[in-house]
Amino acid sequence: MNNYYKTLNIEGLGPKTKEDYICFNKYISSLNSKKTPKEKRCFVCNKKNIKYCNSHTIPQFILRNITQDGKLLNTQIFNSAKLLNKETGVNKTQVFHCICADCDNKIFKEYETKENYQVEPNQLMLKQIALKNHISRFCKHNEEKHTYSNILKEIKKGITYPITDINYRIKVTEHNYRYNNKRARLILKNLNNSTEFYKLCYYKKINYTVPYVLQANSILSLGFNNEKLANTFDFTSFDYADDIHFCIYPLEKESVIFTFCDKSLTIYDDFFETLKTKNEEEQLSILNFIAFAYFEDIFLNNKIDKSILENYFMKQIIQEQMITYADTSLIQNLKKEEREFYKWNALSNFSIDNNKKIPNLLSYEYRIV
Ligand SMILES: [Zn+2]
Repeated sequence: MNNYYKTLNIEGLGPKTKEDYICFNKYISSLNSKKTPKEKRCFVCNKKNIKYCNSHTIPQFILRNITQDGKLLNTQIFNSAKLLNKETGVNKTQVFHCICADCDNKIFKEYETKENYQVEPNQLMLKQIALKNHISRFCKHNEEKHTYSNILKEIKKGITYPITDINYRIKVTEHNYRYNNKRARLILKNLNNSTEFYKLCYYKKINYTVPYVLQANSILSLGFNNEKLANTFDFTSFDYADDIHFCIYPLEKESVIFTFCDKSLTIYDDFFETLKTKNEEEQLSILNFIAFAYFEDIFLNNKIDKSILENYFMKQIIQEQMITYADTSLIQNLKKEEREFYKWNALSNFSIDNNKKIPNLLSYEYRIV
């Protein structure tokens, strides 16, 4: 998916009839319409006027392990009002356009090699994955900026748009765009030297193929007993990397799940140490919950049990966005401490205590092979 569809989330206000759907789809695509960039430059080699290639964030050899007929489901399948197509072809899954084919073929080889997943990923693989995640994120935030500017134009025309806090959202997007861009440049500069950027927080190999794939970065806000981890509501310095990279990779007859973050970051240490003391089923249930609550770029095998798609809490958590609570006019007049209390309390759906409310798709029960 190229846009952050949670941005456009208007659950309950979507179309009801076939005619509604036609209008609605036109409206959504008008919001998503982009400006064409003036000149195309490769992010890696900086050459001008090149042809961008289809850069895959998630290696294709991984996607193909859970693909039926070349298609995967995306999390739109859980939305009652579909904002985008619920199916994605493998060739278009998590693809971005800002690198030339030469660079794309050259600098990501290690993490795109099947044989390298027999053991824990090494530093170079982690750097390559992080680089892909950051580039993919800033490309998406760039498109999101266009969507917002189109929404602002609609608002100026007097059309009310059913989302609140638009200015705050624009601020968040701009921040995320710049952060991911800066991180990508830093990793690129140090990609092939011996500087260590990352530490593995968690690694597990399981002996069956799980039915979905995820590779992205985000922050985690709440740990065990709702302990605050990263601050969801602050615009931290661009030099402070508090995000964590999540990889859930279904392989041919097994799966690897690992997470990693900046080497000097300690805010997640206790959380992962505690997680590792739980039994395997519980660990997977918690990771599965984090995946669906915090990330929207999850791609699923399309033969997945249809009852899962009807799980109420699953639908709710997939569509919910943390920043909805961050700056709403409802709390503008409260005292600072009261505002903080309200904001963190409003995140209760993101509490990992809820992990058992959704089906654990990482468990053996839902395996493909
Ligand atoms: Zn290039």
